[in-house]
Amino acid sequence: MNGYLLYNYEKKGDFVHEYSIVQSLIDLIEENAKNNDAKKVTKVEVKVGVLSGVEIELLETAFNTFKEGTICEDSEFIVYKQEVVVRCKECEKESSLQNEEYSCPHCGSYNLEVLDGEEMYLMSLELET
Ligand SMILES: [Zn+2]
Repeated sequence: MNGYLLYNYEKKGDFVHEYSIVQSLIDLIEENAKNNDAKKVTKVEVKVGVLSGVEIELLETAFNTFKEGTICEDSEFIVYKQEVVVRCKECEKESSLQNEEYSCPHCGSYNLEVLDGEEMYLMSLELET
């Protein structure tokens, strides 16, 4: 899945502020809606990587607070949690990590490349014109 990159951990300063992420998200959605002559947004889907440092609960609270009075007011907000997906540099296998352990489930190597799970993306928007 590709989407619009909203946030990744490398952009993070000392802390992650879900409210400012939601602010940029809503700005982005409003711009998108405007470009498509949409009257309102009915659904917003985002993907949050477990390593992104974004708290899903806080994100939902922030969205529901900020959407008041915006084009997103009546929209449904759906958050998908993205597990960490890695490729092992030793055995070349791809796996998704379910637990805290940061090692290859196949060979136990710590020599891993992270393929997914570090970012937050806007995946899709449903607009009403
Ligand atoms: Zn391996």
